[in-house]
Amino acid sequence: MSGGTLPIVNGLSVDVEDWFQVGAFENVIERDRWNDLDLRVQRNVEAILEMFEQADVKATFFTLGWVAKRHGPLMRMIADAGHEIASHGWDHARVYTFTRKEFGEDIRKARAELEDAAGVAVTGYRAPSFSIDQRTPWAYMELADQGYAYSSSVAPVAHDHYGWREAPRFAFQPLPWSKLIEIPVTTAMFGNRRLAAGGGGFFRVLPYAFSRWAIRQVNRREQRPAVFYFHPWEIDPEQPRVEGAPIKSRLRHYTNLDKMAPKLRELVREFAWGRMDMLAHREAPRAVELPAEIAA
Ligand SMILES: [Zn+2]
Repeated sequence: MSGGTLPIVNGLSVDVEDWFQVGAFENVIERDRWNDLDLRVQRNVEAILEMFEQADVKATFFTLGWVAKRHGPLMRMIADAGHEIASHGWDHARVYTFTRKEFGEDIRKARAELEDAAGVAVTGYRAPSFSIDQRTPWAYMELADQGYAYSSSVAPVAHDHYGWREAPRFAFQPLPWSKLIEIPVTTAMFGNRRLAAGGGGFFRVLPYAFSRWAIRQVNRREQRPAVFYFHPWEIDPEQPRVEGAPIKSRLRHYTNLDKMAPKLRELVREFAWGRMDMLAHREAPRAVELPAEIAA
């Protein structure tokens, strides 16, 4: 490390939802069937906690209120291990399907459940399926009104299921009157194209070398922290197979589940990682204002 500069600590996050709560299956498994399904999130999160402990890293667990309601002691276990508990909304409904009022109720209910279960304050939010974009100009107002410090809800890239391709790639301040900051998930530049490089399916499906290249590029060339995410079900090759989902969703969901844990171990060992609230705090002075023509 050269003299005087802080080492770049990247943001490590886990989106805590069960195997049947993912966007890919939302048209196949109705929400009212969720209670009858095999709950696997607890054992998967416990395995992740062990992995993080071995690597001596802290992370942020963006958790559904629905999960916190059923796994209270697990929330306490995550917080006691020094990780951050943050909100992933109540039951994974996308933000752009809500009115502002409905969104406000969803995040209020989820936060109350999380804080009650974990016994810590929740100050961060991640939208299900990165569903804050140009269609939801009220979402940041609601988060600011409810006193959130940061959001990590934007994928600044074009993707078939999500993405706000014009959004800034690094920390930005969505509202001129609020300190709330948005920390988008990581993209890497390939020529003048933005590539999704923050985890999820891309990390699981592509060789590890791609993620290594992308994070190094962001850290070394751009001198910014990367934001990485994955899900507990991604380390669970034994999970039940969902019939009737589109073939593309099935391919994306089930590829390389058995390779995910070793890959993650390599990732957490190779780079420096920390909680998202720490990262938001460090990035705040560098956050840019959201240009008006993008916000509209
Ligand atoms: Zn999610």
